[in-house]
Amino acid sequence: MALLECFECGKKVSTEATACPKCGAPPPKSRKGESITPAQSASMTYKQRRAFQKAGGKILLSKAQKFSFIVIGFFMFFGLVKCNATNDVTSESVASADQVQKALQQLDNAMKDPRKIRLLECEGINPWKTKPNGWTKPTKNECAELNKILESETK
Ligand SMILES: [Zn+2]
Repeated sequence: MALLECFECGKKVSTEATACPKCGAPPPKSRKGESITPAQSASMTYKQRRAFQKAGGKILLSKAQKFSFIVIGFFMFFGLVKCNATNDVTSESVASADQVQKALQQLDNAMKDPRKIRLLECEGINPWKTKPNGWTKPTKNECAELNKILESETK
């Protein structure tokens, strides 16, 4: 004999009773191993769903629910990762500000060297707002040559 919640009113009723003493509904029975689809559960009241689950029944998740659980889990995981990283945030942001400064400096230097501008063009980047008069697309040979020269200079 087990006490389970009445499917209709939520009162605890023996599975061996003939009816719920409070509301007269049929006695609850164990729902172990039973499952219902989201569509089926949608036609049940909150109390009925709760009683069904308390009696061991499973309500399957819809695809949308599964998806939202995955999304929520994903954000909770990254929230935790971020929380653990908060100690490093100050030093990290200082370092990245430094890196940005360095990168800007490098870009600035590169823009003073016409060969480096040309190399940017070789990589398909257009550094010009308006292209200078007589501008031509860099050829493959020119790019290879430039690459060689600049590489040997950085060594
Ligand atoms: Zn009842």
